[in-house]
Amino acid sequence: MTLRLFNTLTGQIEPLEPGDGKALRMYACGPTVYDYGHIGNFRTFLQIDILRRFLKLTGTDVRHVMNITDVDDKIIRNAGEAGVPIGEYTERYIGAFFEDLDALRVERPEQIPRATEHIPQMVALAERLAAVGAAYQTEDGSWYFRLKSFPEYGKLSKKDFSGMEDGARVDVDEYEKDSARDFALWKAVKPGETSWETAIGRGRPGWHLECSAMSMEYLGESFDLHCGGEDLMFPHHENEIAQSESVTHKTFARHWMHVRFLLVDGRKMSKSEGNFYTLRDLLLKGYKASAIRLALVSVPYGNQQNFTFDSLVDATKAIERLRTFRERLTAGKFLAGENPVIQEAAKNARVKFIEALSNDLNTAEARAPIFELARTANTAMDEEEFFAGDREAILPVLGDFDAVFDVLEDRDAEPTRRALAWAEKEGRLGDVAPELLAAQSLSDERIEALVAERSAAKKARNFARADQIRNELAEKGVVLEDSKDGVKWKRK
Ligand SMILES: [Zn+2]
Repeated sequence: MTLRLFNTLTGQIEPLEPGDGKALRMYACGPTVYDYGHIGNFRTFLQIDILRRFLKLTGTDVRHVMNITDVDDKIIRNAGEAGVPIGEYTERYIGAFFEDLDALRVERPEQIPRATEHIPQMVALAERLAAVGAAYQTEDGSWYFRLKSFPEYGKLSKKDFSGMEDGARVDVDEYEKDSARDFALWKAVKPGETSWETAIGRGRPGWHLECSAMSMEYLGESFDLHCGGEDLMFPHHENEIAQSESVTHKTFARHWMHVRFLLVDGRKMSKSEGNFYTLRDLLLKGYKASAIRLALVSVPYGNQQNFTFDSLVDATKAIERLRTFRERLTAGKFLAGENPVIQEAAKNARVKFIEALSNDLNTAEARAPIFELARTANTAMDEEEFFAGDREAILPVLGDFDAVFDVLEDRDAEPTRRALAWAEKEGRLGDVAPELLAAQSLSDERIEALVAERSAAKKARNFARADQIRNELAEKGVVLEDSKDGVKWKRK
């Protein structure tokens, strides 16, 4: 089934298919690596991950390029304040970014170019722009894009810039809509700043030029899809279109996908409001990476999401339900045969799942039939009307669900452990939830030993001691489950 996706450029939901009939060529604006990523950033990367996983599930290969902006105004300012070269400054945040993506199980794009490694391509694009009269140099040696040379400016964000003043300039990378002016392509070197000696002078690239040069380098002058957060639509994406189409006279990206804002507790996330969270902040509060992933993808990308801690609690419970269901399904012993009601329910769940995602990636509608299927099957198992053939019908449906949502395997211990190690190194153990610290204070070996001692106590009919151990472990966030195969334990 073909994915139908809202296209910001045309304002319509349209089929998304590879232009070359082979692989979908897509570009996503990557992080500017001057700090740790916040959950608003990660919502965007997660929703793009849902897109690429769904395309692959339904048989479309993807060629996904995501840049790393490792030189810009903020990076230069912060590295200068820290007294280190920008490469050294950005390296730790690049490492942290990939660690965070791994924690959230975001698949790696096929190519991840860095801005500082593509200066020649950017210079070449600036030269081409100058050759067609779309770029000019100012007295200080900087280069600007001449907005008046591109009458279609505003076609993506649907803003009217016809009244703007010719020659008014802006040299910062980020600016508000009322200051749509000629923007910097190349910034002449300032004392103490990182710079490159090039054919267009000594300096450094503007942010917008980076993405045009790198996307066209890897995907060609015209490609299928460009994605990013809605905050990038103007001016960044508008500028990318202007820079690219001015020299190629081809449609830069045919389809544009914008992930809408994340609010936290109903307000814009900001450090001064006290509602600003990085992924690491949430892990240290004791929330699991899988729950964060599910919470951040469960509201469709085209809707604004209001993130709350309750939504994380709900996601934790939802994942627990599905994992328990799958466990029951795989570990259970069922008689041969099929229950037609379950067979039908499994078939319907898969159809609804695929349909919902095909319809503009409606993740909320896609997860619902899977939970419904689990409920129906659980009831059938309780009533002993569930058979081996039903398991065979349901497992592939769960497989498809997890190919996109990827929360069924319990891989939560590792990201939490890494976040704790990071907090310790950064002197942030004070931010860690007490329960989490307590749970981590017990080594796996110590837990195993206590579990064994409890089993021995039970055998010896010393139930008081057995209960005491169970309670001690519970206080430290370790939950025991008695099953016929013995005792299982896990950290809450
Ligand atoms: Zn970009």
